[in-house]
Amino acid sequence: MRVGFIGLGIMGRPMAKHLIAAGHQLTVWNRSRAGIEALVTAGAAEGASPADVASRSDVVITMVGDSPDVEEVALGERGIIHGVGEVFDREARIGDRGPRLVHIDMSTISPEVTRRIASEYARAHIEMLDAPVSGGETGAINATLSIMVGGKREIFERCRPLFEAMGRTVTYCGPIGAGQTVKLCNQVLVSVTNMAVCEALVLAKKAGVSPSVMLEAVSGGAASSWQLLNLAPKMIARDFRPGFKVWHQEKDLRLALEVAREAALPLPATALVSQLFASVHAAGFQDEGTQALVKALEKLGHVTVED
Ligand code: NAP
Repeated sequence: MRVGFIGLGIMGRPMAKHLIAAGHQLTVWNRSRAGIEALVTAGAAEGASPADVASRSDVVITMVGDSPDVEEVALGERGIIHGVGEVFDREARIGDRGPRLVHIDMSTISPEVTRRIASEYARAHIEMLDAPVSGGETGAINATLSIMVGGKREIFERCRPLFEAMGRTVTYCGPIGAGQTVKLCNQVLVSVTNMAVCEALVLAKKAGVSPSVMLEAVSGGAASSWQLLNLAPKMIARDFRPGFKVWHQEKDLRLALEVAREAALPLPATALVSQLFASVHAAGFQDEGTQALVKALEKLGHVTVED
């Protein structure tokens, strides 16, 4: 397929490379240069704007930041929606009745904003899928992401080869916005588990047991989790480089709490961990990885989990 890729950061860069490796023809655009250069070296063409990328693609994938970023790339002045006229001209010229433009947004954003963009697109005859991912930078690099997809099922099936090039578990979740809703459930699980990992580490240290020994002892048992195996060693080693940034996690928790508020649903643990991430942000660590959550628990307990 002719695929456009917009947003070449921690996640987008390796994901886009897998699509080239799977034989798709890629046109890329990124706000800053570094991502573009990495992909052009790997064999992609460079587009001049999101609209230009759309005009040269059957499917455009976005992997940007928050809801306003997707809105800007989709509907802004040089957005995807403005590339579609040329797509229709081309179809008319060659008599092609094949697929029209599909926008797959793989960022984590608001389900409500997703539905609003999709309804704007409907007037321009663009199809949209929301397909946020889980699995982090490692999952993106190894093409083992879990991908949760919302939108029309037939559009999902048409795009399945793209998902399979980037992920291992691909799940159709329901109509547009359903992928984002499932991703927010994922973020509740991930962040509350992260908080439990931090609490276990500060407890071990304060009670006189080596955090590394505690980690080794519990990792193979019922308490194991992705957060324990991947984040706890980084907390102990004081490695706060981002796989998943604190401010992205804060955004996801805000989105989960917004959806819960709309539904009059209390999520007490999510609200608490969201406040702890706010304190990590207030201390200036918003661009660090989510393992920096331990700094909030360390401050409360006057302890550090370094061995
Ligand atoms: P990142 O490293 O900060 O990359 C974001 C990319 O989007 C950058 O290339 C950035 O351009 C571009 N961008 C942001 N806002 C833009 C705008 N308004 N217009 C144009 N381009 C814009 O973030 P990431 O970690 O790859 O995460 C991307 C998305 O995936 C987020 O929604 C995040 O929540 C989600 N996610 C991340 C992970 C993870 O572990 N990292 C896991 C699952 C889901 P610049 O280069 O100019 O900054």
